[in-house]
Amino acid sequence: MPAAHLDSLQSHYDVVVIGSGLAGMTGANRLARLGHRVLLLEHHSQLGGLATSFRRPGGHIFDVSLHGFPQGMVKSCRKYWSPAVAASIRQIHDIRFDNPDFKLQTTFDRADFTRLLTEHFRAPAEHVAAFFAHLRDMNYYDRDTRTIRDLFDEFFPARPDIHRLLLEPIAYANGSTLDDPAIAYGIVFSNFMNAGVFTFQGGTDVFIGRLTDELRASGVEIGRRCLVEKILFESGPDGRPQARGVRVKSLRDGGERDIACGAVFSNAGVKNTVLRLAGEANVPAAFAADAHAVRVNNSSAQVYIGVRAGESLPRSGDLLFTSEASPFSSDELVDFHTTSRTFSIYYPETRPQLAAPRYAVVASLNQRWEDWAALDDADYARHKARLVEEALSGLEKHIPGSRAKTDWAEAATPRTVGRYTRHWEGTSFGTKFEGLRVSLELPEHVPGLFHAGSVGIIMSGWLGALNYGVIVAAKTDAYLRSSASGAV
Ligand SMILES: Cc1cc2nc3c(=O)[nH]c(=O)nc-3n(C[C@H](O)[C@H](O)[C@H](O)COP(=O)(O)OP(=O)(O)OC[C@H]3O[C@@H](n4cnc5c(N)ncnc54)[C@H](O)[C@@H]3O)c2cc1C
Repeated sequence: MPAAHLDSLQSHYDVVVIGSGLAGMTGANRLARLGHRVLLLEHHSQLGGLATSFRRPGGHIFDVSLHGFPQGMVKSCRKYWSPAVAASIRQIHDIRFDNPDFKLQTTFDRADFTRLLTEHFRAPAEHVAAFFAHLRDMNYYDRDTRTIRDLFDEFFPARPDIHRLLLEPIAYANGSTLDDPAIAYGIVFSNFMNAGVFTFQGGTDVFIGRLTDELRASGVEIGRRCLVEKILFESGPDGRPQARGVRVKSLRDGGERDIACGAVFSNAGVKNTVLRLAGEANVPAAFAADAHAVRVNNSSAQVYIGVRAGESLPRSGDLLFTSEASPFSSDELVDFHTTSRTFSIYYPETRPQLAAPRYAVVASLNQRWEDWAALDDADYARHKARLVEEALSGLEKHIPGSRAKTDWAEAATPRTVGRYTRHWEGTSFGTKFEGLRVSLELPEHVPGLFHAGSVGIIMSGWLGALNYGVIVAAKTDAYLRSSASGAV
């Protein structure tokens, strides 16, 4: 009889990590390097969560979320992964906007934004300087209650064109709207626009492959196609339920096992972690109510466009923010029929390791879960085909002749995001601001249970998720070394 999939797992670990997004992988690696025995469980066959890629016939490889990240990734990867991982990070220099309000090209750093705001948009230099100084000094602990709209109106009143320049790229990166807290914008903007936009040379597959090698070298055990169905509790020293294990189901052979552990580190979404995996019976009622009240961010749709082998695309920018809508509106950006989309253009230098040069384009749109969730099969297929058609014709306007060079095009929707990540309402960017507090306070309310992953807009994106994994690993380590864990 063949061995069952879950047979190779131990019956006890110091930590079980649920989910292999960047926060989960980084947390697992940190905890293993700190000397803990770590099991990382992922329901999908691939690691990386949303930091993922996939292959299609014709030699196509598509990256889902490798559009751009802040320079901080270099330092974080070097420090928390390896110098070799950090060494493959490169800046992208050609970012373009094309919409009814303006058409421009930028290197997307603070100096170039200052130039654009003063020369192209004719904003007074002292307002621009004051805006950047204000962003730099914003602090999470100031409890600033203003919205992004308030912030923009203070420095650039009645300038929807400037509001678009400042928010549109951030909205694609983390789902922010004009009504989100100014502080979230301040922190993300300062990260993103100080030193430009960066990417990983080699592609997401090489990136995640290197992280996986590091995990193995650190001694992390990895279970793929392992769905954590629930977190298991015992009564703790103070009588409260204490997280002491997980029930895992093999998606290969259907087998189930309970694995005991000293702490659970969940990279499943914060609402899923509290309300579904822990379950309300194991969480104080007031805290469960807080978790219910957390709003999730919007989701995404994408169209993956493969250029036929042997064909090439002319240089047309690395990131192209396009829209036919004016003025800019956060609602239009997520509308079912939005005309706003970002094209990420992947030239051969994205994957210099390939034998022959290849080109690909990914069109990304922000979308609402509710517009896609209830469609029947026929409507779902029809609207996916519409997305493909709109993306191909949109690209043709910017790169004439691109359609004829395409031999693969397919769409992903919020339902796709939901299926592959199991996130609440298929959210691509975690939760709104209030999710950060629920995530941070979780171990106080449920001893032994920690959450790291996209929350609060701030802890989102590749860099935010990775760094949050480091922060939460330190807290998990401190807990495991304390008498509260029952392990010492
Ligand atoms: C279309 C799109 C484009 C993006 N573009 C960018 C970009 O250009 N730059 C950038 O910085 N960020 C981008 N992002 C955001 C970025 O990819 C994410 O913020 C980041 O990767 C999230 O990491 P995470 O650790 O929160 O976990 P996630 O990536 O959300 O992973 C969570 C993991 O947990 C697993 N899991 C959940 N429940 C269970 C369970 N019960 N059992 C086992 N496993 C489970 C899931 O399968 C998944 O692997 C983009 C996101 C999307 C959707």
